[in-house]
Amino acid sequence: MKKTLLAALFAVAGLGTVQAETTSLGLATDYSATTPSVESVLGYPIGSRISSPDAMYDYFQALHHAHPEQVQLFHYGKTWEGRPLYYVAISSPANIADLGDFKAGMQALANPQNTSSEQAKRLISELPASIWLSYGVHGNEISSPEAAMLTAWHLLAAEDQATEAMLDNTVVFIDPIQNPDGRSRFVSRYYMNTGMEHSADRISVEHNEPWPSGRSNHYLFDLNRDWIALTQPEVAGQVNALLETYPLIFVDLHEMGGDQTYYFTPEARPYNPLIAKSQREALWTIGENNGRWFDEHGFDYFTREIFDAFYPGYGASWPLYHGTLAMTYEMASARGHKFRTRDGDILTYGDGVQRHFIASLSTIETASKERQRLLQDFWNYRNQGIQQGKDSKERYVFIDSAQDPAASKRLAGLLTQHGVQVQQSNSQFEACGTDFSAGSYVIDTAQPAHYMVRTLLDEQVDMAPDFLAEQERLRSNNLPDQIYDVTAWSLPLMFNLEQQRCARLPRMDLAAVSGDLIAPGQLLHPDAKIGFVSAWGDMNAGRLLTAALREGLSVKQSDLPFTFKDGKEYPAGSLIFTRADNGDDLSATLATLAATSGATIQGVDSSWIVEGPNFGSDNVQQVHAPRIALAWDEPFSSLNAGHTRYLIERQFGYPVTAIRADQLRRADLSRYQVLILPTSYGSLNDAFGEQGQKNLTQWVERGGVLITFANATQWAVDADLLASALEKEAKDKEVEVHTEKRVAGLLLNSAEHLHQYVNAADTDPYWTSGVLTKLDVDQEHWLTAGVPDNVISLTVGNQIYRPLTINNGRNLMTYASADELSVSGYLWAENKQQLAHKPYLMWQPRGRGMVISFTQEPTYRAYLDGLNVTLMNAIFGGASHARPLR
Ligand SMILES: [Zn+2]
Repeated sequence: MKKTLLAALFAVAGLGTVQAETTSLGLATDYSATTPSVESVLGYPIGSRISSPDAMYDYFQALHHAHPEQVQLFHYGKTWEGRPLYYVAISSPANIADLGDFKAGMQALANPQNTSSEQAKRLISELPASIWLSYGVHGNEISSPEAAMLTAWHLLAAEDQATEAMLDNTVVFIDPIQNPDGRSRFVSRYYMNTGMEHSADRISVEHNEPWPSGRSNHYLFDLNRDWIALTQPEVAGQVNALLETYPLIFVDLHEMGGDQTYYFTPEARPYNPLIAKSQREALWTIGENNGRWFDEHGFDYFTREIFDAFYPGYGASWPLYHGTLAMTYEMASARGHKFRTRDGDILTYGDGVQRHFIASLSTIETASKERQRLLQDFWNYRNQGIQQGKDSKERYVFIDSAQDPAASKRLAGLLTQHGVQVQQSNSQFEACGTDFSAGSYVIDTAQPAHYMVRTLLDEQVDMAPDFLAEQERLRSNNLPDQIYDVTAWSLPLMFNLEQQRCARLPRMDLAAVSGDLIAPGQLLHPDAKIGFVSAWGDMNAGRLLTAALREGLSVKQSDLPFTFKDGKEYPAGSLIFTRADNGDDLSATLATLAATSGATIQGVDSSWIVEGPNFGSDNVQQVHAPRIALAWDEPFSSLNAGHTRYLIERQFGYPVTAIRADQLRRADLSRYQVLILPTSYGSLNDAFGEQGQKNLTQWVERGGVLITFANATQWAVDADLLASALEKEAKDKEVEVHTEKRVAGLLLNSAEHLHQYVNAADTDPYWTSGVLTKLDVDQEHWLTAGVPDNVISLTVGNQIYRPLTINNGRNLMTYASADELSVSGYLWAENKQQLAHKPYLMWQPRGRGMVISFTQEPTYRAYLDGLNVTLMNAIFGGASHARPLR
């Protein structure tokens, strides 16, 4: 029995033309009935229902069981909600039988240090091509995962020579669903809201997702921005799988607004300058072949206008820096079964499935046709990386582990997870004229992952000068700029770590670094008579504090530095555990916590302090385990709420209670010591109203610690909780603009004069997409305990605040001077001038409590590790310095 593609698809509204299209493309019309179709496994024709992640998993299991000789299924992790993360390899029986050899062959090509050019030549002539198709990273971009099932079915069921030849020549990796938790959220709520008929109306409940949308994962991350910090299992697991297989092509298949058409490569400007010319050329080849297929079907498409390839933290960017061709495809979204476009057409779910299916096939065809060229380019790319490093005067990168043991360890482990070779010295050494402590990290940029190293570590990646000139031109004409995302992402800067680079490597013993992000710490002198101390200032100590609080230990924190008789100095914020306040098992508990947190804990036999406060001083605070509330739901930013919850729960190791804005308006919050308001999209004045403002003010006055980020700080100002003010753009007011409807005559004597007049209106400062900025730190406060005198922050948007005056509070972190504050990325000159010395972190006591306001999001994408100690001070230090009536 044969089935046709038509028979499989025809039941779906909007797919009636498929038969003609597949025939005209020369696609197979005969399909094997032994390959399970979506309908036979799931009970409905492909494209007629938005499949749940569970159903999709069943389908790929069924394909594997029906064709084990052609389909292998690999797990690479589990989501936060426990769903499997997996990919399948589909190819000819011979290629699948040799999959181990294939992976070994790609590893050999990826590592030219261990591979001769003779071996490489043989591999390039013999290895199959490979392509990795990733679907559904944004859970509410629904059609691509369905297309993953159709693509897999077609490859296995089609009984024509072209498909067979393609599989003889190509290994196809399919990651059908990168974000199962997000899709699950979308699908369950979508069907919950449907009625007797599906609605195509964009204002219908079917087409309006409640907060948070299905786009993000469980912790509400946009997974398509997480490929730098790899904080989420969906991304970290996929990166690991990609480093095992090194596919030649990677495609990330998305959806965009329903009124658009279809987008594929080549990408928009600005290009990241670390992308190779050969890659850009091959991306054109892929785009051109897609264009040919789309032309044959009469499908509209566009290229080059949006979706740039500058920020490397997209799924469709990261693989580029390992030598893979990576790109994004975008289909107009029906965001449900059907959608009425502005032109009045009905776009169906099936339309999306069909276009993603065609784009998948056409790209597999390019991989197959260009097999040898792509293998050769990949080998050349990896070699070129090694050569670039060798030729560089900055060949070696050194990072001193002593400046921040936790952050430097995390960086080294993270780089290893990115497929970068990192080494660690077990002794002190001197390099680039600087002394480095034992345990410092060395990265030789003469390695095949050279461009990945550069992308993640370089402190500045420039956009092309003509592109920037164009942005300035647009801006001066009051038109929006074309910068799509942050223009700065250097990991050492974001971790507040200095790096040194120079041409030579001194002689020393080096050991390879693992992907572990925490090095076990230790308890020194466990039999100490008086107690134990641990130096504050990094996340090793931070994790020790939260773990100790959760264990119920009694812990104190000093507001000031202190020095023991033996000369050992401890910075402000250092943790103190006395035997007198704790049980007999203190040493054993601390030994365990040292191992898991990474902290070094020192036993002390005397509490005699020669400088700084004694343990019984008023300057030493008992830390009570605070109950932390986090504002949730509309109008808060789901991203910022999610990033913050993730950071505190999974990196700090401390639970958070999420509370909806509506509850915060009136609920009794006295059980909570800390409340964090993330940034918001909509107005907090509207959400909280007068009642909410009163409720939160009273809670602060009774001892609550209110922490606000970005737009929530604006609300704190409006609510009279923070005596700052939000600024308009600073400008010369020589020209007076009209405010009345009948005014005196005015002579505009030049085009420039007209320009000045038009721009003299009160406006907000110009928007920035995101740059790394330097802050000056006032270190004489518990809120900055253990924080260095400068830290790096990320500045996005256009909010600039006035400093607090001394009668109201303190400005504990302020932007550096105009010529120093922008450390990476591209920031407009006017913003530099106006941001200089303005506050980033403000503290204002109120009654028995206080308000701690960040003018930006310190938890942005959970990758600004250099701000973590400050945030811990705000939460835990804030709670121990508030004076509620207990
Ligand atoms: Zn997307």
